[in-house]
Amino acid sequence: MNLILAVNAGSSSLKFKLINMPEEVTLAEGNIERIGHDDAIVNFKTPNEKVKKIIPVKNHEEAVELLEQHLIDFGVLSSLDEIKGVGHRVVHGGEKFKDSALIDDDVINEIVNLSDLAPLHNPHNLRAIQIFRKKLPNVPMVAVFDTAFHQTMPKEAYLYGVPYEWYEKYGVRKYGFHGTSHKYVSGRVCELLGNPNANVIVCHLGNGASVCAVQAGKSVDTSMGFTPLAGLLMGTRSGDIDPAIIPYIMQKTGKTIQEVENDLNKKSGFLGVSGISNDSREIEDGIARGDERCILAQDIFIRKIVNYIATYHVVLGGADAIAFTGGIGENSSLSRMQIAERLKALGVELDPELNDCRGKERLISTPNSKIKCFIIPTNEEVMIARDVMRLINR
Ligand code: ADP
Repeated sequence: MNLILAVNAGSSSLKFKLINMPEEVTLAEGNIERIGHDDAIVNFKTPNEKVKKIIPVKNHEEAVELLEQHLIDFGVLSSLDEIKGVGHRVVHGGEKFKDSALIDDDVINEIVNLSDLAPLHNPHNLRAIQIFRKKLPNVPMVAVFDTAFHQTMPKEAYLYGVPYEWYEKYGVRKYGFHGTSHKYVSGRVCELLGNPNANVIVCHLGNGASVCAVQAGKSVDTSMGFTPLAGLLMGTRSGDIDPAIIPYIMQKTGKTIQEVENDLNKKSGFLGVSGISNDSREIEDGIARGDERCILAQDIFIRKIVNYIATYHVVLGGADAIAFTGGIGENSSLSRMQIAERLKALGVELDPELNDCRGKERLISTPNSKIKCFIIPTNEEVMIARDVMRLINR
C-alpha cells in the first residue's frame, strides 16, 4: 500500500483525500469548514461510512488532529505514520515553480517569498505544510502549485500592456490558477479522444471559475490573471473590469483601496449582480421565478465564458473539444446548454438528453457538433497524489 494524503488548506477550511497509489483508490476523504468557530462543520467519508458533525474546531492544528482521529476511529489507519507521502495544494508558485516540488526548507522559503503575490492563499497553505511537517517529520511532502501548469504560456499571453519594469521588478504578469484541474481535465479529454495533441478548451466553473486553452497538453492561455480575480464573473468575484473603475469608486464612496478590493473579491459576481446569492443553484431558482437580476447575473456569466471560448478557439487554430468541470460545469445542465446555444456560430451542438446529467464523465455533444463537448468531473487530489508518487520515487 502506498497511502498518499492530498491536502487543500484554506483560511478556515481543510480538505483532504487519502488515496492508495498507484491504483488511485480513495480510502477516505473529508473536509472541515468554519475552522476557528464553535460551529465548525466536519465531514468525513469512507467507501462504507459517512459522518457529519457540527463541533467547535479552534484552529488548523485541531483540524489535523480530528482528521487523524477519524482515520483511526474508522479503521482506515492505525497511525498517521502509515502515510507514505503528503501532497499540499499551494495556490501560488510564481515563476519559480514550473512543476510540483519536494518540500524542504528552501521550498518553504520560496513559498514564503511568494506570499506577497498571494496574500489571501499562500500563508494558509504554508500553515498546513508546517503542521504536517511537525506531525510527520519523516514523511516526504510535495507542494503542488495551482499556477505551475500555466508556466507554458507564451510571453505575449502572460504580459500586460503596462510599464515593463512592473514585470521585471514586481512580477506583474498573468500567472493563471486552477492549473491542476485544467491539467487533469484536458488530459482526460485527450485520452477520450485518443489524441495526446488535441486542442482542448477547459471551462472550470465553480465558485471560482476560469477557462483555459490547452494545446497538446500545455496551457497556452487562461482567463485568470495576476490573481484569481481576473477573467470570468464568479460567485463573489467580479472577473475582468476596467481598472479605472477602482479610483472612480474610491472617489465617489470614500472607500479605501482595501475596501474596494474586498468588494471586487467578496461582494461582486453572482452575489453582487443578483443581490441574492453567490450560489448558482440559488441563481437558477431565481431564474425559474423570473427574477430579472438573477437572469442578468447568469447572462453576464455565460457571455463572458462564451467570449473566452471563442477567443481560445481562434488562439488554438480550432478547438477539438470543450470540457466542463467544477461544481457548475459538472452539474448545471442549464449553464452548459446556454453556453452551447451561444456557440452555434462555431457549430457546437449539445444533445439535450446527454446534457441532462450531473457529475458524470461523458460526451454531451451530438455527432454533428463540430467541436466535441464533455463533462469531466475534476480530480485535483489524484493529480496531487500522482505528483507525490513521481517526486518521492525520483
Ligand atoms: P469551489 O470553487 O469553491 O471549489 P465548486 O466547484 O464546489 O466551487 O462549485 C460551487 C458552485 O457549483 C456553486 O455555485 C454551486 O451552486 C454549484 N453547484 C453545485 N452543484 C450544483 C448543481 N447541482 N446545479 C447547479 N450548480 C451546482
